[in-house]
Amino acid sequence: LLPSALFASPLPLPLKLYNVLTRRKEVFKPLRKDWVGFYTCGPTVYNFAHLGNLRTYVFEDLLRRTLEYAGYRVRQVMNITDVEDKIIRDAKKAGKDIFAFVRPYEAAFFADLQKLNIKKAWKYPKATENIPEMIKLIRQLLKKGLAYRADDSIYYDISKFKPYGRLSGFRKNRTTSGSQTANSYHRIDADEYSKKDVQDFVLWKGKKAGEPFWNADLEKGRLAPTGGDKTRSGILPGRPGWHIECSAMSMKYLGPSFDIHAGGVDLIFPHHENEIAQSEGATGKPFVKFFVEGEHLLVNGEKMAKSLGNIFTLRDLETRGFKPLAFRYLVLTSHYRSKLNFSWKSLAAAQNSLERLYNFIRDLEREHDLERGQKRLLTKTVLTNAEKQFRQALFNDLDTPQAVALIWNIVRDYHQNPASFSPKEVLNLLYKFDRVLGLNLKKIKPAKIPTIIKKLTNQREKLRKKGKWKEADALRAKIKKLGYNIEDTTEGPKITPLS
Ligand code: AMP
Ligand code: ZN
Repeated sequence: LLPSALFASPLPLPLKLYNVLTRRKEVFKPLRKDWVGFYTCGPTVYNFAHLGNLRTYVFEDLLRRTLEYAGYRVRQVMNITDVEDKIIRDAKKAGKDIFAFVRPYEAAFFADLQKLNIKKAWKYPKATENIPEMIKLIRQLLKKGLAYRADDSIYYDISKFKPYGRLSGFRKNRTTSGSQTANSYHRIDADEYSKKDVQDFVLWKGKKAGEPFWNADLEKGRLAPTGGDKTRSGILPGRPGWHIECSAMSMKYLGPSFDIHAGGVDLIFPHHENEIAQSEGATGKPFVKFFVEGEHLLVNGEKMAKSLGNIFTLRDLETRGFKPLAFRYLVLTSHYRSKLNFSWKSLAAAQNSLERLYNFIRDLEREHDLERGQKRLLTKTVLTNAEKQFRQALFNDLDTPQAVALIWNIVRDYHQNPASFSPKEVLNLLYKFDRVLGLNLKKIKPAKIPTIIKKLTNQREKLRKKGKWKEADALRAKIKKLGYNIEDTTEGPKITPLS
C-alpha cells in the first residue's frame, strides 16, 4: 500500500515570517515581480566581529537562502559603517586616519563571512562613499520641516513624524507640541542610545577639531565642490550620523520601498525606528514591508557585547581548535527569535554533531555507486515527505532547529534500513537541504583509501570465498595495523579509516 502523498502534487507552501512591524507572522509576498529587496545592517568596522554579530549575520544568510529556496531572486545589500563615533575615537588612539584604521577590520569581516559560508551580498556600500546621498536626504527632511539646525548640527524632529514609535512600540508623549523652535526639545548626539533617551536624534554632526569632515551643501543637497566658497551660509562642514547612513544606502540600491530589513533586536530602537522616520519622512512612501529581527547571543545570560568585555571572535574559536562551521551549526540549532546562550561546551557538542553528519556524508559518498533498492518506491516517498517537512519547517518563520532535526531523522532511517535506500538519492536530498543550511556538505569527500589497502581487502575477499577464515582474519588484522577497518556488509566489504 502506497501512501497517497506520493501521488499528490506538492502544494506551493506560503513562506511565513514574523514581522516586527505588525508583531505577527505574515505570509511573505514580494513587492516586485522579479526580485526581493533585502537590506541588512552591516558592521561598524572598528574591531573584529564577535560571535554575537556573527550570529546575526548567519541568521540573515539563512533568511536570504530560504528566500532563494522559495524561488525568489534576492538583492541583498549590507552596508559597511566606516565613519562613526567609536571608529573616530579608536583611530585617534591608534594614531591613524579612519580609512587606514578600518581597513584590516573590514578585511577580517569579509574573511569571517567566508569562513561561515555566508553568501556574498549583492552590494556592500560604504558610508564614506555615500555621503552625497545622505546630504540629499537631509536636505529633503529640512525642506519638509522634519529636521532643524541647532548649533552646527542637524537634528530630526521626532514630534513632526506622527508614526514615530510604530516599530519599537514607543509612544511619544511630548507636552510641547506646536512650537518647534530648535531649543525647546532635548536632543541626542550619540548614535547609540536606549529607549530611556527618546529624543530628537542627530542627522549631521557639526565639525569638531581633529575629526574627519565633509562640506555639506544643504541648499543644493550635495557635497560642496572642492575649491568653492566654504563659508557660504548653506554649507555645513561635518559628518553623518549613523542612522542616516542606512536610510540613504538602502534606498539608493533598493528604492524608496523594499521588502525586508533585518538586523539584531538591539537595532529595533533606535536605529530601525529612526530609519523609518528618515525614509518615510523624506519620501512619503512606506519604507519597508517586513522588519525581521534576530535575538541575541548571550554569555552567562548576558548579551555578548564589546562594552561588557565578554566577547569571543571567530579567531578565538579557531585558536581553541574549533571549525567556524561548528558555530554555524550551533546557530542553526536555535530559532533566530530565541536567545542563544553561548558556551564552549555547546560549541563542542555542535562540532561533534557536524562531524557525525560529515561522516554520514562520507559513508553515502562511498556507497554512492551501490544500486540497491528493491524498495525504491517506498524510499522515494520517505524522501519526498522529508523534503516537504523541511520546507514546512523553514517556511514557518525559519524553524531551523526543526530542519536540522529532520536531517537526523533521515540519518536514523537510513541506518535502520540501509538496503531500502539509494545512497545517491539521500545524498542529493541532503545537498539540496544544504543549499539553505550552508554546512558545506558538498565539499565532504570520502577519505581516499590507499591502493595497498584495497589490494589487501581484495585478497581477503578471495580467502573468505574459499573458506580460509584464519588467513582472512590475519589479513584483516594487518589492515587494521595499517589504520583501516573492514566491515563485511551485504554489499561487500566496507573500508573506513580508523581514526
Ligand atoms: P554593530 O557592529 O554593533 O552595529 O552590530 C552588527 C550586528 O550585530 C547588528 O545587527 C547587531 O544587532 C548585531 N549584534 C550585536 N550584538 C549581538 C549579540 N550579542 N547577539 C546577536 N547579534 C548581535
Ligand atoms: Zn543600519
